[in-house]
Amino acid sequence: MKRENIATNGLDRSSLHRSDKSWILDKFNDEQTRIIPVHNLTVLCDNTKQPKGVYLTLKDFVKPLDIVDSMIFLGFYDEMPYFAADINSDELASNLIKQKNAVFQDLQSVISLLDDRDCELLTISRFMIFWHLRNQYCGKCGNKTKSSDSGHVRICQNKACKEHYFPSMDPAVIVLVTYGDRCLLGRKKEWLEGMYSTLAGFVEPGETIEDAVVREVREEAGIIINLDDVKYQHSQPWLFPSSLMLGFTAKAKGKEIILDKKELDDACWFTRDEIKLNPRIVPFKVSIAYKLINEWLNKGD
Ligand SMILES: [Zn+2]
Repeated sequence: MKRENIATNGLDRSSLHRSDKSWILDKFNDEQTRIIPVHNLTVLCDNTKQPKGVYLTLKDFVKPLDIVDSMIFLGFYDEMPYFAADINSDELASNLIKQKNAVFQDLQSVISLLDDRDCELLTISRFMIFWHLRNQYCGKCGNKTKSSDSGHVRICQNKACKEHYFPSMDPAVIVLVTYGDRCLLGRKKEWLEGMYSTLAGFVEPGETIEDAVVREVREEAGIIINLDDVKYQHSQPWLFPSSLMLGFTAKAKGKEIILDKKELDDACWFTRDEIKLNPRIVPFKVSIAYKLINEWLNKGD
């Protein structure tokens, strides 16, 4: 099945079981269990032009019980249990590459080629390992933290502190702004030449997501929109590193662009025909930006 959006949802997280150690150990020892290896934040894929994720079983580890405490229980996909594991040994990583005829890939560079299951499981695995690596120490007292609840909590080991840390995403807004029969797209200097996308930015503390849309569009392109004309459409996690993209449409009150050159290299109004005649303008198909643009392309005013 061709994926339309990165935010697929085939994973049953079974989150209520995460703190039940014997239940987790039982799942870990299930012969159906698959383990997703992450090495230096790269993921293991087969060595083909249409890459697929490579999943391990307990047999791939010399001492599986030694690693159970560092495993992250992800949940069930098609009724099979999945765990993520940080492969921090270069020796083990190179053995896996040889044994599986596979390669550790930068996930972002292959994500649009993966199927739904790989996309969801590898993205969450990489993110969880990333989160653990960045939360080794308590932000309150500086002591070491330890993984708990099968990898979904880290707890400060200082008995006087015991601060709990949970994985989370940072909300960001992304918006397709229209004026009459045109839509506003901008580009950053580092993007592929000729590519434009919907405007986006992080939600600031104390702000509603609708306020963030109005502010970002005004700051980046000098375009004024009314709060009442901001309409929520879809969301998409984008875990590079940790954004939750909240997608909107909005109507501009005027079309004069005043560009913030620190944020954008360019911004323009495009007609539907201009985009349809040059589809390379828009970002890759599994992005929420593409979805917002494509819905507008297929809709009459
Ligand atoms: Zn602490």
